[in-house]
Amino acid sequence: MNETARKIIETKLDSLSKSKFRNSFYLRKKEKEYIDKNGLDKIKEHAYDFIRKKLAPQFPLNDGAQTPMRNHPVFVAQHATGTCCRGCLEKWHKIPIGVELTDSQVNFVVTLIMEWIKRKYK
Ligand SMILES: [Zn+2]
Repeated sequence: MNETARKIIETKLDSLSKSKFRNSFYLRKKEKEYIDKNGLDKIKEHAYDFIRKKLAPQFPLNDGAQTPMRNHPVFVAQHATGTCCRGCLEKWHKIPIGVELTDSQVNFVVTLIMEWIKRKYK
């Protein structure tokens, strides 16, 4: 990640942490153990998979209810970062509903999720 991208991600995580709801999410023991077992690279692969299948399409299936609240670190991170559904993605990241995500938007979402996970995993 270059310096500009890092600043954008940090600013975003900072404003998300000021939301009482978004800031209420954390990694439980079970989710941390899942990272211990699989490693962050694997978690990132899962993040790409979830985002591409469940968030990136023009009209995702069950939009607004496609992301469980727990049991996978990426799910938790999605709620914490406002990337759980297209409504939250529009509200928090100004990414419009009804348009398929571009590759760079998918990369941004995954980077944000992974940064949140790395901070909470420590
Ligand atoms: Zn949502």
